[in-house]
Amino acid sequence: MTQEQEEIKDMLGTVGEDPGYVWMSGERVAWDDANVHVSMLGWSAISMVFEGIRGYWNAEEEQLNIFHLEQHLERLLRSMKVMRMTSPWSIEELKRAVIDLIQANEFRDDIYVQPLAYFGGSTTPGYLPVQEQDGDITIFNRQIGSVLGSGRTVNCGVSSWTRISDNVMPPRVKAIANYQNSRYVADESSRHGYDFGIILNPQGKVAEISYACLYIVRDGKAITPPVSAGILESITRDVVGQLFENELGVPVVEREVDRTELYIADEIFICGTGAEIQAVDSVDGYRIGSGGVGPAVTALEQLFHDIVRGKDARYSEWRTGVY
Ligand code: PMP
Repeated sequence: MTQEQEEIKDMLGTVGEDPGYVWMSGERVAWDDANVHVSMLGWSAISMVFEGIRGYWNAEEEQLNIFHLEQHLERLLRSMKVMRMTSPWSIEELKRAVIDLIQANEFRDDIYVQPLAYFGGSTTPGYLPVQEQDGDITIFNRQIGSVLGSGRTVNCGVSSWTRISDNVMPPRVKAIANYQNSRYVADESSRHGYDFGIILNPQGKVAEISYACLYIVRDGKAITPPVSAGILESITRDVVGQLFENELGVPVVEREVDRTELYIADEIFICGTGAEIQAVDSVDGYRIGSGGVGPAVTALEQLFHDIVRGKDARYSEWRTGVY
């Protein structure tokens, strides 16, 4: 196992070995043969966009439920559009590709699926005019653990780095290059002993976490920065908003959030596909509420867990069964 895999294991519990196959632009290819030419490093890499999708194994039903597959693929195509990258494959074809690949890899566990789109056909230098072109797409997947219901909490620090903004490097686009901003934040926060860094936008308002979105709970309301605050248009953030409003009777407010509101919040949690839902125990050393997992996050996490895994039959349209 690589050091990176060891670190992910610390965060997520388990990370599986390399699977048998990846999907490369229409072909199923053995993991060890899935190569691209070295000239793809560089200009091609700077315009790559990607997605992160989870699948949850339901042991009783022997079903692997992919969470919001279509929405993730739609976001991938939107990210590609901003890069002036067209997709030779429809959403339906990509959905089929994801399902076929999971079946070929015979996963019967929780998994993470990563589609990646890039200009594979040419090494046109970036200083030439940008032409709209078809992208190549690869899809790989791997077994990965879930922390839902584990009681795990995270300690966060507000980062000294500023979030990229729409007129610099649009955070709404899930571009590989954007993650250098997240990486600076993660590097700083881990060196300072935090699990995650919270990033403020150029206006000094709370944007998001390096790899996830954030909600605070104050006076019975769930508050989250708006999509124009320099965040990824997170699918989990949307789902959480719907569950709070429709199932838990917690009103959701999208508005700017100040740094000091973090310190005095009753509860804070981070949410995202990879991060799932995790309560924040402290920010900058300030204990949040009474620490641990508060009542709103406890209820939300349980509901979210049951829905993504298909133990709660509601919201079946959010799940795509593989088997
Ligand atoms: N913000 C960033 C920077 C992320 O990387 C992620 C994870 N994809 C999120 C937010 C959460 O987005 P989603 O809920 O769609 O996974």
